[in-house]
Amino acid sequence: MTCDFDYHRANRSAQYDGLGIFLTYTCPKCHREKMAGFRADIRDRYETDEPIEDEA
Ligand SMILES: [Zn+2]
Repeated sequence: MTCDFDYHRANRSAQYDGLGIFLTYTCPKCHREKMAGFRADIRDRYETDEPIEDEA
């Protein structure tokens, strides 16, 4: 599904990966298509509850 420029600008929202790194802007019409360009697990790869060793 594609979006036109005005719809995209009016409805876009910033997308970030699991570390809060900006990826792109998407709107509801192009969200799936644009996010498909990124790793499928990019948004949840950091959401696991794996223990993080803090040796500091
Ligand atoms: Zn769009």
